[in-house]
Amino acid sequence: MGGADADTERFRNRLDNAATYAEVWEIVKDTVDFALQRRRAGMLLFLDDLPIQLGAYHPLGTNNIVLNRVLVQIVEAEGEPRNVVNALIYNLLVHEYLHALGEVSEVAVREIVARVAEKCFGKNYLAAQVAVKSPWTLLKGIPPQAVNVPRRVMEIVKDFEKTDRYVV
Ligand SMILES: [Zn+2]
Repeated sequence: MGGADADTERFRNRLDNAATYAEVWEIVKDTVDFALQRRRAGMLLFLDDLPIQLGAYHPLGTNNIVLNRVLVQIVEAEGEPRNVVNALIYNLLVHEYLHALGEVSEVAVREIVARVAEKCFGKNYLAAQVAVKSPWTLLKGIPPQAVNVPRRVMEIVKDFEKTDRYVV
């Protein structure tokens, strides 16, 4: 598996350049669809300030995924470039999305995340490497001022899911 093929190239470009949570969220859904032919419509993504050790969660029986905004902002504050921040967001979201698709086993979810990322981005791409290790490898340290940030209002990420979006 040497050079990246057209699909890999396209997914890498999209994730490297995604500028919003909504864009990464779309890539999560598209890569799972591409690798597993599975998609769940009507999912809602929320951002909240959660304890640092929690990346994201999917409340069972809901259509919701909640992402820890503080964690992402800590990695941003470390000065990491966009592709690193996006690799983190991607990994946290794709993990919860697979739970939402009905996979309950942690071991199985981690294994599937790695398989999806490898198939869509190729083995030597950061988001795929993070999937094999853990999103926490991107967190170098927790700045003390991050621990006591006042909790902000939970926000919803506006979904631009449209049926005609990727029609060429
Ligand atoms: Zn999990």
